[in-house]
Amino acid sequence: MDLNKATYAELNQQLQAKKISAAEVAKFFLEKTNRLNGKLNAFISVNENVVREAEVVDQKIAKGETIGALAGVPFAIKDLLCTKGIKTTAASKILSNFIPPYDATVVRRLKESGAVVLGKTNLDEFAMGSSNETSAFGPVKNPWNIEYVPGGSSGGSASAQAARMVMGSIGTDTGGSIRQPSNFCGIVGVKPTYGRVSRYGIVAYASSLDQAGPMVSSVSDAATVLDAICGKDTLDMTTAHLPKTEFNKNLNPNIKGIKVGLIKEYFSTSGIQPEVMAAVEKAKDNLKNLGAEFVEISIPLTEYAVPIYYLIAASECSSNLSRYDGVKYGYRANFKSLSDLSLDEFYSQTRGQGFGTEVKRRIMLGTYCLSSGYYDAYYRKACQVRRLLREQFNEAFKVCDVILSPVTTSPAFKIGSRIYDPLTMYLNDIFTVSTNLSGLPGMSLPFSFSKEGLPLGIQLTGAHFKEQLMLNVALALEETTEQKGRFAYVS
Ligand code: GLN
Repeated sequence: MDLNKATYAELNQQLQAKKISAAEVAKFFLEKTNRLNGKLNAFISVNENVVREAEVVDQKIAKGETIGALAGVPFAIKDLLCTKGIKTTAASKILSNFIPPYDATVVRRLKESGAVVLGKTNLDEFAMGSSNETSAFGPVKNPWNIEYVPGGSSGGSASAQAARMVMGSIGTDTGGSIRQPSNFCGIVGVKPTYGRVSRYGIVAYASSLDQAGPMVSSVSDAATVLDAICGKDTLDMTTAHLPKTEFNKNLNPNIKGIKVGLIKEYFSTSGIQPEVMAAVEKAKDNLKNLGAEFVEISIPLTEYAVPIYYLIAASECSSNLSRYDGVKYGYRANFKSLSDLSLDEFYSQTRGQGFGTEVKRRIMLGTYCLSSGYYDAYYRKACQVRRLLREQFNEAFKVCDVILSPVTTSPAFKIGSRIYDPLTMYLNDIFTVSTNLSGLPGMSLPFSFSKEGLPLGIQLTGAHFKEQLMLNVALALEETTEQKGRFAYVS
């Protein structure tokens, strides 16, 4: 078995047949991570205990006990999810010394399925960004070409997975942060329906949009991870009460007669690069050959998606991040004495030093939107338009089963080329934010390559809680892609 390519099902079978041990697997990936991380900066913390933790799986096998579907799979966890005893920073100076006393539900469930945590991955600070350049721990590199960004905000998870420093990774997606870096790095990334996956223990950015999901090497692996992490959690009241998912078991590449929607407005978006459109066109042909039918749909509010996203996300972030005040936990500015210091000074020094530029920009924007004089004009209005946008998608899903679209307007761009131009950076999110605003499931599937040899993906969006159908379409399409079976840095 080639660990650089193996699926979870293959690993599971080899472990049970005692052809390889979980400890050997962990050792292989730990060494690879330590070898490549200097170049890619994908990890903020590496769990050097991973081999010992993997031995637990081997002991279970030796005793003849049953093992989970993710037994011995080494995972990279975005450093936004709390991990018991392992530093969790959100890639911010303000949390640089925070060691959580508990695991996020997602992490707990991965472990219950037999997975081991290899480390915590770099991200844009507090998941705010589209390029992984706003991290207090430095930018992450794209393993296909280290001069390029891996995408953000889950760039560390994407880079680690694409370089196969791990067999699985977890990201979070508030406005595209799983799908966009997956697209730039050539991996499969799924953002589940809002409410499928518990947000308990995930550092909150914008709570009505945040959702965690898999960033992995194949559709079937994505289904396996979803089965492990989805489900009601009494610790997160927004999780939906639904029967246990069996996405992997129900994977079916027969998509004859399935109706695929194409959003008219997406095709007239300005600034979209021709090769991105060419990939979507090619995917359309392939899907037609597989028996899918196409329908044109319209989401007239598309032009407002980015503005309402940035108003709502910034408003929620300004509220969520108010807890970082230097009093309870996290970074505190170094004061000689606290006695003759005003509370305002204490907060502003701590927060001023602890947060980076992009985070501060959003806190200010959000505070302004929520202030009494502007609440109605900005925040309330954005919420109203969000509701209408969601209704337009619900209407569209009456005539189609899934939507095919680009993920971003371009493939990965060069490090440093957009970071000083926040508006251009925000506009890159045009095809991903509506999914979060509407609470829909969406995924990025590796498809072809750009002229420069960088991965290009396509996006599939499903109706609420219809991940199975979306995964089935992805499974069928996966077989037809140029990227299938190709990884960066496999040695
Ligand atoms: N790029 C978007 C933002 O900066 C999305 C980030 C995310 O999904 N976490 O808000």
